[in-house]
Amino acid sequence: MKLLNRATTAPTTWRNWARSARCTPDRIIRATHQSDLVDAVRYAADRGLPLRAAGTGHSFNPLVTTSGVVLDMTGYTGIVALDPAAPSVTVRGGTLLRELNWALDKAGLALSNMGTLEEQTIAGAISTGNHGSGLAHRPFSGQVLALTLVTADGSVRSCSPEEDPELFAAAATSLGALGVISTVTLRCVPKYNLRVTEGSLPLESVLEDIEAYAGSAEHATFSLKGWSDNASTLKLEPTDAPVSAEADRRRRANTLGEVRCATAGLAGRIDQRSVRRIMTAQLGGGSGPADYVDVSYNAFTFPQPVKFLSLEYALPLTSSADTVRQVHEEVKRFGLRTPYSITVRFSAGDELLLSPAQGRTTTYVNITVPRTVGYTELLRTFEAVLLEHDGRPHWGKAHTATAEVIADRYPGWKAFQDIRAELDPQALFTSDYLRRVLGSTRPRT
Ligand SMILES: Cc1cc2nc3c(=O)[nH]c(=O)nc-3n(C[C@H](O)[C@H](O)[C@H](O)COP(=O)(O)OP(=O)(O)OC[C@H]3O[C@@H](n4cnc5c(N)ncnc54)[C@H](O)[C@@H]3O)c2cc1C
Repeated sequence: MKLLNRATTAPTTWRNWARSARCTPDRIIRATHQSDLVDAVRYAADRGLPLRAAGTGHSFNPLVTTSGVVLDMTGYTGIVALDPAAPSVTVRGGTLLRELNWALDKAGLALSNMGTLEEQTIAGAISTGNHGSGLAHRPFSGQVLALTLVTADGSVRSCSPEEDPELFAAAATSLGALGVISTVTLRCVPKYNLRVTEGSLPLESVLEDIEAYAGSAEHATFSLKGWSDNASTLKLEPTDAPVSAEADRRRRANTLGEVRCATAGLAGRIDQRSVRRIMTAQLGGGSGPADYVDVSYNAFTFPQPVKFLSLEYALPLTSSADTVRQVHEEVKRFGLRTPYSITVRFSAGDELLLSPAQGRTTTYVNITVPRTVGYTELLRTFEAVLLEHDGRPHWGKAHTATAEVIADRYPGWKAFQDIRAELDPQALFTSDYLRRVLGSTRPRT
């Protein structure tokens, strides 16, 4: 097999971005063509080895780890087709969001919404239910018009809401459990700028009517700290105004803010009081609350080189104010303070079988902590509250929920498992971790 001569390494270690998951698989295969995906799947199937597709490893849990084949998708990149009239774009699954944003920008186009990261692959983003914020926007997969998937028998299947809608509803957020996503077609919009406005409000005044707050801007977010009863507000609104002179500085300031969090996290290991001191110290340079304009993808995202751990759950918007109150109380009570904010974002519901926003308008609550042992306990305390309140874990974040807990929270769970059993009867795309969060592949009932 040609592929094995030029694009594989065996054995070597694969690690995720956060260094919280690693494996030494039998082989890592680096794909650059669609035929490599098909060859890799056949190679694994012929030898009875499991195969897991890998993007850039920005998931915090062992979603990719396997003893079999890791199929590294990061060399399988680029635009396959761009239709300015639709407008839509078809990209290879390993393309980074950053590369896509630049290509769309050149064509006068953009994505309508995204999260804060643009260093991950398109296929990894949709596979884990990646999202940004905005009540009028579904999670990232909501921009997907069609995709192609290499399944366990080596065939390439196409699906969209029109062509094979059942497969599409399962595959557009599927944790790599149904096959390898080869290409993704995304809806685009004309290129636009966003006005970024930061502020501060008493947390209680936001929670009093959380639905009103969620709808108060095209992309509304708020965040809170364990030592304050105020919420920091962040609103992004489309605007015709030009990009502000200070836009680049503001984006860099977001990155520096994370460096500051990491420093506070380290100092906090020696003296917990220093966390709050470092995080509330006024820095020079005249940077007050933000009010500036940037091109959309730069306003949504910022470079995040500093490693941390994150946990996030999707909750029903209507009952989420009480949940946020309770997690805030828990975080205040907990002995250790995380320097990072607890972030609250919103999305419209969707119909994808394993989407955490499936069937309900959603509030996402995220906690980020430094990567040290005491903070892992804080994650678990926080998670217990979110699980009690009908939370569904973000598939790419550091949750501990198992299939037994998660299954009943997804009306589409059985339909997904039926499609999984049909497409992958030999569990080629399953791992120990996937058995934990999705259960074993079982015959269709
Ligand atoms: C710094 C940072 C910031 C983040 N910000 C956000 C945010 O704002 N919003 C949000 O929702 N999430 C966020 N996340 C989570 C993260 O964006 C997702 O988990 C990430 O998109 C995964 O993409 P990846 O390319 O790293 O995939 P990986 O982590 O490599 O893989 C994730 C899953 O996708 C599967 N997969 C990858 N490629 C394919 C393929 N071609 N075919 C089939 N399956 C595939 C893998 O098997 C695995 O199950 C953040 C994470 C980090 C580290």
